[in-house]
Amino acid sequence: MKKIAVLSGDGIGPEVMREALKVLSAAEKKYNLSFSYAYADVGGIAFDKHNTALPQETITICEEADAVLFGSVGGPKWDHLPVEQKIERVALLGLRKYFGFFANLRPAVVLKPLCSISPLRGEIVKEGFNFLIVRELTGDAYFGKKYSDANQASDEMLYTRLEVERIARVAFETARKRKKKVTCVDKANVLTSSIFFRKIVMETALQFPDVVLDFIYIDNATMQIIARPQSFDVIVTTNLFGDILSDEAAQLTGSIGLAPSASLNEKGFGLYEPMGGSAPDIAGKNIANPIAQILSAALMLRYSFAQEKAAQAIEGAVLRVLEQGYRTKDIMQKGCKEVGTKEMGTLIASGL
Ligand code: NAD
Repeated sequence: MKKIAVLSGDGIGPEVMREALKVLSAAEKKYNLSFSYAYADVGGIAFDKHNTALPQETITICEEADAVLFGSVGGPKWDHLPVEQKIERVALLGLRKYFGFFANLRPAVVLKPLCSISPLRGEIVKEGFNFLIVRELTGDAYFGKKYSDANQASDEMLYTRLEVERIARVAFETARKRKKKVTCVDKANVLTSSIFFRKIVMETALQFPDVVLDFIYIDNATMQIIARPQSFDVIVTTNLFGDILSDEAAQLTGSIGLAPSASLNEKGFGLYEPMGGSAPDIAGKNIANPIAQILSAALMLRYSFAQEKAAQAIEGAVLRVLEQGYRTKDIMQKGCKEVGTKEMGTLIASGL
């Protein structure tokens, strides 16, 4: 029995989470798995009830769980809060820090039926693409020494050996389960921290002789993922470059409502969430796309529970429902049938 902490949060969070749980329940039956769910408040709803976006009780529930399935948090109701109480900051950065999530995995996938909603030209998208960005989360300019006075300001881009080794291992291990290729994205032609990052990635590669490693500078990477996205399998990169590159890649898939993500710590404990936010503009209307949340649940099966077959089955069910022409509003195409959040969840669950 695997225990899942369910943190639905705000806005469309609870709506899309319901559909992910529907699909997990179908996967449970089909693959003879057993899940128990522990629900906890997070985000604005937690702030209203407990005066903090991340109550201790929620942390305890996550600690007792085998994985965390997260919805999204925040919304205009809480925008006025001072910086130390900001919903996203307290909830997401708080969980990231508490559990030591250092690896952020963001798949960039264009499925064949959705090729035409990618902003890339048809001749570039071809039959779709599938690569994975592994972003380091604990180092770089975000956490290095900060300095500012009236005339200058700086952020130190610090990386330690341990930080680079562990993110590189995640990338190589993940590539082993894919097409066995890792591309290290850095700025080693200019930055000392990038020269170091690249060196440690090369050293770690020696433990993975079956995985091909190549290198590309970040400026070129931003061009190549829109010029030849099929050439990538796993990209490993620093915190700052990963932040930017993963948003660029998410945009290539056509809708943020399709994009899942995983954050892992050293023990393999993970938090799984859609890349998008709480989408207050569409909350409560049954039009949000639940696919990002459903695919986040599939990542949880893959990375936290080692249930590759069940993960692939969910991804396959999503593909089949799209092939049958069903679409939520955000990915609607001519000749397709528009369905709501609940209907999309039901179709995918029964497609399993
Ligand atoms: P957003 O991702 O919530 O929305 C951006 C656009 O994408 C909106 O038009 C929205 O309708 C659309 N969208 C997002 N998810 C969708 C889905 N599943 N289906 C269909 N359309 C979808 O970003 P935002 O508007 O900048 O932020 C809204 C709130 O969410 C803010 O309070 C922000 O702080 C918060 N936020 C939370 C997270 C998180 O919980 N991880 C991430 C980003 C933003």
